[in-house]
Amino acid sequence: MRCSSDARPPSGMDQYWLSGGTSDERNKSFRMGGEVLVMEEAYAHALSPRFFATHCLHCLQSPSLQYLPCFRCATVCFCCEECREEAWRTYHKYECPTLSLLVDEEIGCMALLAFRVVLNAGLQQILSSDEPAEEKEPFPSGVYDPRSLSVVKRLVSHEKERPAGDLFKRTVTAVFLLNCLEIGGLFQDEDGESAQNRVGALLLRLLQSLSCNAYEISELWVRNEEVSRGERVQIGGAVYPTVSLLNHSCDPNVIRISHGSSCAVVAIQPIQPGHEILDNYGYVFHSNEFKSRQETLQRQYFFRCTCRACEEKWPLLENLQVASGISHRCPRCLVDLSKKVKKCPKCGKEYNARKAEKKFRSSVDSYRGISERLLQNKGEYEWREAFPVISSHVRLLHQFVKKPCKEHVRAMALLKQALYLQGNVREINAA
Ligand SMILES: [Zn+2]
Ligand SMILES: [Zn+2]
Ligand SMILES: [Zn+2]
Ligand SMILES: [Zn+2]
Repeated sequence: MRCSSDARPPSGMDQYWLSGGTSDERNKSFRMGGEVLVMEEAYAHALSPRFFATHCLHCLQSPSLQYLPCFRCATVCFCCEECREEAWRTYHKYECPTLSLLVDEEIGCMALLAFRVVLNAGLQQILSSDEPAEEKEPFPSGVYDPRSLSVVKRLVSHEKERPAGDLFKRTVTAVFLLNCLEIGGLFQDEDGESAQNRVGALLLRLLQSLSCNAYEISELWVRNEEVSRGERVQIGGAVYPTVSLLNHSCDPNVIRISHGSSCAVVAIQPIQPGHEILDNYGYVFHSNEFKSRQETLQRQYFFRCTCRACEEKWPLLENLQVASGISHRCPRCLVDLSKKVKKCPKCGKEYNARKAEKKFRSSVDSYRGISERLLQNKGEYEWREAFPVISSHVRLLHQFVKKPCKEHVRAMALLKQALYLQGNVREINAA
């Protein structure tokens, strides 16, 4: 499939601290070390109401000095004139008159996001686009365009699996949102009833599909430079049609990192060429019980997880063992090797078990020292310095230590924190 995405990393993305080897190595070997696999701008995004007074409605930054109010309401703020103008022109003028109703908790958190998708698409595109049909060939041109409404319409809605009460509530919400759009002035007299019907149908579809396809926009809150204690806070929601294509695993090989309202999908485990990129829908094996994971995934996403962690019933972190010993794998293709081989039988890479083991043991030593220091609440500078050691150690763990074990989970937690530190961060310093 050709892709016409014009999404580019936002400025600052080249800051990722390690790129993971030369392009030649990368083509032959796995992806790792904080490598960005997908970078997608939000099709639409919505800031959570509790951050309306602290974050720019449009770019989601929290301005340190001066906030600009909306032209009309006193509910939201902006970081600069450009954000205010752009937001007003593209969506806020339509939502401003009814914003307090749109963000009412009883309406549900997806309402404002569905509203924004409609406004981003625009009436013209909605009226000219085909009716959605999951079975139908969605891209007649053969081009996948993540900025087109047809891609958003194709996000799975699970309409057939939903009980009548669920559909009834979503239908009422869609009618309510349609009225808000009318009050906001989206429709002109000449658009007529059929335009409203088309928009209403789209809203109903979005209210179903977004509940299993929308993503959180998060920010790492770091108090007094204590990065290791930094916690991720959800500040809003967004639609990323391409990221939505990724399936779930309870032991994912990527994480999503928010950059403003954009989303970076970054490798945290080796991914070999041809292997699937596996995201996590909020339930990882080491902190959520098998049974509750399965139930929640079934209820919210309508599937039974058959990832390796589920099939083998991997234990929670507190019950995980430490690694019992070293096992050898090819550093390039991760196939199991005997200590005696001189070459990987699968990919032909030369192998020296004694040398490889020495490298791993020295990595264990330097990683241990660095992780102990970082956990004593070092600031961003120390984390930045430590990142290559953490990243390369995680890679070596996959080569020498069998999963699941405590070492993998702990090293991965450190790697994830170092990566989140490169996305949206809010520094909070006590006076
Ligand atoms: Zn802004
Ligand atoms: Zn306003
Ligand atoms: Zn699973
Ligand atoms: Zn190999």
